[in-house]
Amino acid sequence: MEEKDESKENTAGSRDGEGGQKEKVCFICHRTESKAGKMITIPGGLTVCADCMQRSFDQMNDPKIRNMLNLSNLGNLRNFPGMGMVDPGLSADLQENMEKGKKPTTGVEAGEKDPQARFDVRELPAPHKIKAALDEYVIGQDYAKKVISVAVYNHYKRVRTNTNSKETIEIEKSNMLMIGPTGCGKTYLVKTLSRLLDVPLAIADATALTEAGYIGDDVESVLSKLLEAADNDVVKAQSGIVFIDEIDKIAKKQNTNQRDVSGESVQQGLLKILEGADVEVPVGAMSKNAMVPMTTINTQNILFICGGAFPGLEEIIKKRLTKSSSIGYGAQLKDAYDSDPDILAKVTPGDLKKYGMIPEFIGRLPMIFSLRSLDRNMMVRILKEPKNAILKQYQKLLELDDVKLEFDDDALSCIAEEALEKDTGARALRSVIEKMMLDIMYEVPKDDEIGTVRITRAYIEHKGGPVITLRQSQPRLPRADEHAGHSQS
Ligand code: ADP
Repeated sequence: MEEKDESKENTAGSRDGEGGQKEKVCFICHRTESKAGKMITIPGGLTVCADCMQRSFDQMNDPKIRNMLNLSNLGNLRNFPGMGMVDPGLSADLQENMEKGKKPTTGVEAGEKDPQARFDVRELPAPHKIKAALDEYVIGQDYAKKVISVAVYNHYKRVRTNTNSKETIEIEKSNMLMIGPTGCGKTYLVKTLSRLLDVPLAIADATALTEAGYIGDDVESVLSKLLEAADNDVVKAQSGIVFIDEIDKIAKKQNTNQRDVSGESVQQGLLKILEGADVEVPVGAMSKNAMVPMTTINTQNILFICGGAFPGLEEIIKKRLTKSSSIGYGAQLKDAYDSDPDILAKVTPGDLKKYGMIPEFIGRLPMIFSLRSLDRNMMVRILKEPKNAILKQYQKLLELDDVKLEFDDDALSCIAEEALEKDTGARALRSVIEKMMLDIMYEVPKDDEIGTVRITRAYIEHKGGPVITLRQSQPRLPRADEHAGHSQS
């Protein structure tokens, strides 16, 4: 039996086929050409089937495997790690808008074309392009989008030049502090940005952080999250973004004699990583312990964005403004700033210090800016305008059932008003609309005759039903993508 097998297979990757002819054999899976399809001959005279070849390529592209084999460093040699403009949701058209017909390039791809690309800061999307891309997703908040676009552009420009040249002028890190009420788009802005730039993002909650040694997460845990978001690729993580939300909750506790393990101490703990340091980070876990492997992450090129609502900060700003303006001729009435919707935009580092942030901490966040609370108009726009707007999602879902979904302007205003009452910003929109759409999504597919559903204010206010138009009463025009002969139901 053994003898027969040996005669059938030889070491050059061929085997006797059924008709006695020599047949190529896959060097990896040992299937013959008649079973596995056409073989590819690789250097050394070995043959590999197309399936095995594809699998090998896939594995080489798997970030985890690249990381294990330390191949990710290759990307670093070719270009800046992991930077490239990609579309966060619906890639094709955004990309077209941003790159004007140029194919999107990841850092590695760009490097393959031009090994010098990593020095070319012009390859970074310019601030106006970053803002234009953010505009497609984030409604309003123009000033914040502008600041963030410039800061991000400068940050990655600094990263590229600093790592590769011996410049004597050191560009300061552009860590940011975003101040704005809950649900106004702080997290959404950062998430959109990280997807556009294709850099890993970690979102951490400052309230969960405590001083090392106490119950809670150490400050290093935010870097563990970033490493996880980068598929454990240290090089990629080192150029990522960390968003620390609820930063106002780690303000120094006023009038307390107890040790402040979750406030001032956390700010102190964060100083080192905000500034740029080598930090020992547990891999695959949030806290250090003897069983968890550790790795070192350099935070020099990580962009830190902190966000918080800072309730009560307005009062501090108002107090300062009225105090300064009550001296001399320009004296103003005490309540002159009470109705100013942009009071947060007048924030200074001094105000934040009064709030309980330590000066060293504020000093490491050179970009401080605020976001506006959302009004009814912005809420309506959020419902219908973003690329992945919630209304568009429902319209798409019903379109699959060949039903057109329309909303009266008045109905949208009503939804916005209801959401505003909940005081959780745009976050409330989804819950209001989901409740309202449930019956429609349940009932409409039951009836093939329904052609159009129009949502009115009366329906939102539970004073009536939606306006339904049946297909017969209003003949439906064929859509452009339908075949000419598609029958009307
Ligand atoms: P926060 O400011 O509390 O971090 P988020 O960014 O998490 O609020 O906003 C909650 C949700 O509301 C987001 O997921 C997004 O869908 C929506 N949203 C909030 N603000 C905007 C905005 N300006 N444009 C578009 N959508 C927004």
